[in-house]
Amino acid sequence: MPKYKDKSRFFPSQDKRFDELLKPGQEVHVDGIYICMTCGFETYVESGTALPSAPTCAEHADNLDWYSEGAAIWRLLAALVNRQR
Ligand SMILES: [Zn+2]
Repeated sequence: MPKYKDKSRFFPSQDKRFDELLKPGQEVHVDGIYICMTCGFETYVESGTALPSAPTCAEHADNLDWYSEGAAIWRLLAALVNRQR
């Protein structure tokens, strides 16, 4: 889960794009932090670029000791408001 210091700079959203489950390597259309729903690994991805293409958690989080075994499935966790297109 991302950390933050100033809660007043974050705003809840009901945008349905937060509900979409995304595949490894899929292009995203929102600048933001994405989380792997299987292991919790987080990464920043710019709109128009792709999520990590590794199909398993062991491949995208191989430098971490807390990853889970399994297939990667991504979801938007936090979106940059001023850069949404
Ligand atoms: Zn993962």
